[in-house]
Amino acid sequence: MPTPVWEIRPGADTPRLLHVNATATGGGVAELLRGLVEEQRGEGINAGWAVIGGTAEFYAITKYLHHLLHGRAVPNRIADPATLRTYREVLVPQAAWFRSSLGIGDVVVLHDPQTLGLAPALRATGARVVWHCHVGAEVPPERGPAAVWQAMAPELAAIDAVVTTLPAFAPPTVPAGNRFVIPPAIDPSAPKNRALTEAEISSLLDGIGLTAPSGRRGRADIVQEGVLPAEARVVLQVSRWDPLKGIPDVVRAVECLPPDVHLVVAGADPREIPDDPEGAAVLAEVLDVLAGLAPEDRARVHLISIAQQPAEVSALLVNALQRRADVVVQKSVAEGFGLTVTEAMIKGRAVLATEVGGIRLQITDGRDGLLVDATDHQAFAAALLRLLADPELRVRLGESARQRVLDHYTLRRLVADYRGVTGLADA
Ligand code: UDP
Repeated sequence: MPTPVWEIRPGADTPRLLHVNATATGGGVAELLRGLVEEQRGEGINAGWAVIGGTAEFYAITKYLHHLLHGRAVPNRIADPATLRTYREVLVPQAAWFRSSLGIGDVVVLHDPQTLGLAPALRATGARVVWHCHVGAEVPPERGPAAVWQAMAPELAAIDAVVTTLPAFAPPTVPAGNRFVIPPAIDPSAPKNRALTEAEISSLLDGIGLTAPSGRRGRADIVQEGVLPAEARVVLQVSRWDPLKGIPDVVRAVECLPPDVHLVVAGADPREIPDDPEGAAVLAEVLDVLAGLAPEDRARVHLISIAQQPAEVSALLVNALQRRADVVVQKSVAEGFGLTVTEAMIKGRAVLATEVGGIRLQITDGRDGLLVDATDHQAFAAALLRLLADPELRVRLGESARQRVLDHYTLRRLVADYRGVTGLADA
């Protein structure tokens, strides 16, 4: 059964706008919706947000769809009718729950492949159905996306519009006039991004035992022992424990870092993200990599598994980690749009990322960050050493990065772009 995160106001005579996704916490879409829905409500739109329910088998299928759209899975399983039958059997009965909230003139936005299967049933309510697909990669369609578009043709035929981060991520079967390109955005004043004092940063990092071993208060698990010294320089990656985030390679990179540099890798607690069934396995793989390191290198790696609840505390903790970092990396193999990159950029951090998907939109190499080929580990290490050795470069990239986010990737712009898709103006 779906769960409301934000209920639509009952009885209001303005059109309703309902966002639907697969998780209330963890990952970029939940982060984006928290800000977007609040802002839309603040502007007088009768907006709500609900999260679908699912089974382990359902989330295994949706993760597979996600990998297909990134060109990272073999498209044979989707040709098997049983795969989508299971997916639809979980979603279609949940449509009834939404019917009382939707009618002619209302808008429902289905986020990502997890919810697309609701489209035909919700279209029948007379509401405008928008699919916002946050994932995608510029891969040859036969590597995966084409199989999704073909197998999900009934769902795609039921949507009125699709929203993607880049034009190439949209299904070609949706008429060009119904395709919208809207990059995600962040809220500069949210707990995740607001300015923090040095005292707040220290207190947050002491509080999880990262910088003071006695300070643990259970909001995050430090997955292995070892205190981050106050004088250490820090390289950070924040991401879900997902095979596409390149985390094992980030951990291996510690071997090439100067001895005063520590690596912090922080990810959401996998047990709290139902639609990401691979988290525990990736975390286990990262622990294996860690076990293979020399003890002096291992002591410079800090793995943090952050509890997502309470949401404000987890957001402040990510904020503090990003502000404590000298360099923020995002070594993704594929990325629709990396909110973590934009979050680091608004804090004036020097970011080193891989040149994939939406990240190419977010960073211009050499101007507001550095980009390297995702398969070139030596180039990654070389760029990291270059940034660590050059404080002026870090400051220059960081200042330009902050300005770029303020100019292009704030919530205000996202809300304005969304008006064009939903057709709903402020009340
Ligand atoms: N995030 C978090 N805690 C974590 C790991 C990630 O709050 O331990 C947040 C992160 O700050 C960002 C989002 O989850 O807002 C990840 O979004 P992104 O677009 O980078 O990647 P996605 O998870 O959507 O693939």
